[in-house]
Amino acid sequence: MRIPGTPRTRAALVATASAALVLSPAAAHARAVDDTKLVPHSHFVMQADGSSGNTAHGATIPNIDIVKKTIRTYYNAPSGIADKTQSPYITEMKQIEADTLADAALLPRVDPADNKAVVFDADDTTLWTYDMEDNAMHFNFDPVLQDTQWVQPQRFPATPGMVSLVNAVGDAGCSVVGLTGRRDPQRAATLGNLQKVGYEPFTDQLYFTKWASGATPSQAIYGGTPCYPTGNCTTIDYKSATRACVERQGYRIIANFGDQFSDLIGGHADKTYKLPNPTYYLP
Ligand SMILES: [Mg+2]
Repeated sequence: MRIPGTPRTRAALVATASAALVLSPAAAHARAVDDTKLVPHSHFVMQADGSSGNTAHGATIPNIDIVKKTIRTYYNAPSGIADKTQSPYITEMKQIEADTLADAALLPRVDPADNKAVVFDADDTTLWTYDMEDNAMHFNFDPVLQDTQWVQPQRFPATPGMVSLVNAVGDAGCSVVGLTGRRDPQRAATLGNLQKVGYEPFTDQLYFTKWASGATPSQAIYGGTPCYPTGNCTTIDYKSATRACVERQGYRIIANFGDQFSDLIGGHADKTYKLPNPTYYLP
């Protein structure tokens, strides 16, 4: 199968890649996504435990306070609360939205009978966690605080630009799929938060959360994968297996949006869109 698209589409998206947008823009023949490129810098001369025997000049190592200040500048968040109307991050997200809405693979209107689907992650793809990560957690992730103070009370604002993008994708005739590493006990609150901030096309049927901690993953979805029966698998295994399940239901996933490389690696999507997130890294 082939996505309707034009070279202009690809050019527009590639042009924005420097702004951390498209990492695998295999536009027209997009089944051949080269996700080997979706790998951040993770190898360093000096290992953290010194086992490499090598040394590195201290001046080459990022200073953690400077990194935090840089991140706060990016979000225009001097007090740890992100500016909700103006920042380099918002400017970048608006550009992503504009480019994506111009993408012929998603819009204009597609025939719902084609069963085309677009996948969206939750945290920092559709729901914005910056204020929690910085102001509430001081960049030290706390899963209890996350669940009790933010997820269950449905406190997250929408990620800038994404409500109109997701709703436009749904209006165009695509099925909108949610896929998150949040757990099943957070499912209802997540769907509630999404609806609360204006997302319209997410449905219970096509929203996928991870099994509860200690529970056995669904055999129907994860049987035959490293996730089943123990649940001991990587995010890449979990998310790619879920996308494969969506495909088995007859959908063609034409695009996959996420803020983590692990959202996007593993295939089962024609195109991948990497959204910016300098705040944390999930392997
Ligand atoms: Mg995320």
